[in-house]
Amino acid sequence: MTDQVSTPSSPISPTDRILVAGAGGFIGGALMVYLQSLGFQHIRAVDNKPIGQWHQRPSAVEYVRADLRERDACYRTVEGVDHVFNFAADMGGMGFIEYHKADCMLTVLISTHLLLAARDLGVRRFFYSSSACVYNAQRQTTTDAPPLKEEDAYPALAEDGYGWEKLFTERMARHFLDEFGLQTRVARYHNVYGPYGTWDGGREKAPAAICRKIAQAALGGTKVIEIWGDGEQTRSFMYIDDCTQGTLRIANSEIEDPINLGSDRLVTINELVDLVEAIAGIKLKRVYNLSAPKGVRGRNSDNTRIRRLLGWEPRISLEDGLEKTYRWIYDELVAGHRDLSLTTAA
Ligand code: NAD
Repeated sequence: MTDQVSTPSSPISPTDRILVAGAGGFIGGALMVYLQSLGFQHIRAVDNKPIGQWHQRPSAVEYVRADLRERDACYRTVEGVDHVFNFAADMGGMGFIEYHKADCMLTVLISTHLLLAARDLGVRRFFYSSSACVYNAQRQTTTDAPPLKEEDAYPALAEDGYGWEKLFTERMARHFLDEFGLQTRVARYHNVYGPYGTWDGGREKAPAAICRKIAQAALGGTKVIEIWGDGEQTRSFMYIDDCTQGTLRIANSEIEDPINLGSDRLVTINELVDLVEAIAGIKLKRVYNLSAPKGVRGRNSDNTRIRRLLGWEPRISLEDGLEKTYRWIYDELVAGHRDLSLTTAA
């Protein structure tokens, strides 16, 4: 690692005991591996999925399988830890959150019970992974919509279901800080992608879905790619290593309000396809599915605040990140079964 973002004098130090909630998923799995690379030795990892289905399984971690919607499960798993990183959520890309609004909102049970357990069991820092889906939809109606500043979440008109739960939990975290003294920290992630992310099954997001479709074509499949919408909708995409590093920086900071953690390079979905096609060395015929879920028309991260407060922002280029992601998904397809994505060592 080039940047040492946690030292023995940081609020979160490598000798502390860490709980990663949702550790079987994409970002939780990556954070465990990142923390271990910084020398963290006491990591408890919890998820409700069978351990064999976790995205990553570094060694020397205490594994717990529990449903964190249950209050008692939260108290049991939080017992004895210094800091909580909460990534546990019932979520996915647009294809999932559009049709599972109730499931997304039920994640509030996880957030609520984890916060209560953290308050009651003396947790020192509580990190919450919020989302750019909290932003007011009316500020995202054009492809060149101005980048979203943190204050643009209000007046609130979040993504229905998923975004409202995130916004509610952000506020709950803030009130736990103000009224109970729990040191909560909140990042609003903008589209995270990378190896070990979900790339099939219906919960995948645009970069992984595009990499998979193009890799399937490269491996001899149909030379046609279906794109949701007209492909001109815009987004920014953050590589997973920037996400894990930014997460620890924010968790270690004195930033008490939710803060953007995302790339501020805006691209259309068509441009994303261009980039992955260039990596794969093929060109596909594009078919546009105008009735598929598309989300907002344009969304970008305004990084003014993170630059000012941390002197840092995500910096891994989309070209480099997509190259690694494409190669990983390609290899997964060649290997033919998801279990090979699991790691057994840090
Ligand atoms: P993920 O789906 O890969 O990981 C979430 C994990 O939570 C899964 O492993 C799931 O099994 C677990 N989980 C769900 N319900 C649970 C329960 N009842 N008990 C215990 N575990 C449970 O998602 P991710 O991409 O790693 O995202 C992590 C967090 O970051 C989520 O809160 C998500 O909303 C947020 N976020 C992610 C992105 C992104 O682009 N990936 C963007 C914005 C916000």
